[in-house]
Amino acid sequence: MDWFRLYTVAETLAPIRASGGMRIVPDHALATAPEPKVIVIPAHSDPNNHPFCAVCGMDVDAVNGPKSVYKGKTYYFCSADHKDQFDAAPAKFLGASKL
Ligand SMILES: [Zn+2]
Repeated sequence: MDWFRLYTVAETLAPIRASGGMRIVPDHALATAPEPKVIVIPAHSDPNNHPFCAVCGMDVDAVNGPKSVYKGKTYYFCSADHKDQFDAAPAKFLGASKL
């Protein structure tokens, strides 16, 4: 009997930062992944529905948490501290985080 084998797939093999700071290293890139039997998509994976801190990647409260608008896009933060860090050098945090 062929049991399910669990593996992770992402766009590339680059490590992904999940909420809480956990790093996930994908087993396969999309282009090379074996055909799945079952696909599990983590909840909260849509940053539009549930944003993450642009500095540390933590879950944030989109309604009450601090936010900044940079180049027409809204970024959310877990704390006023991280908002200050972002505001001081936004470019530093964009590109680092692939949300
Ligand atoms: Zn943060």
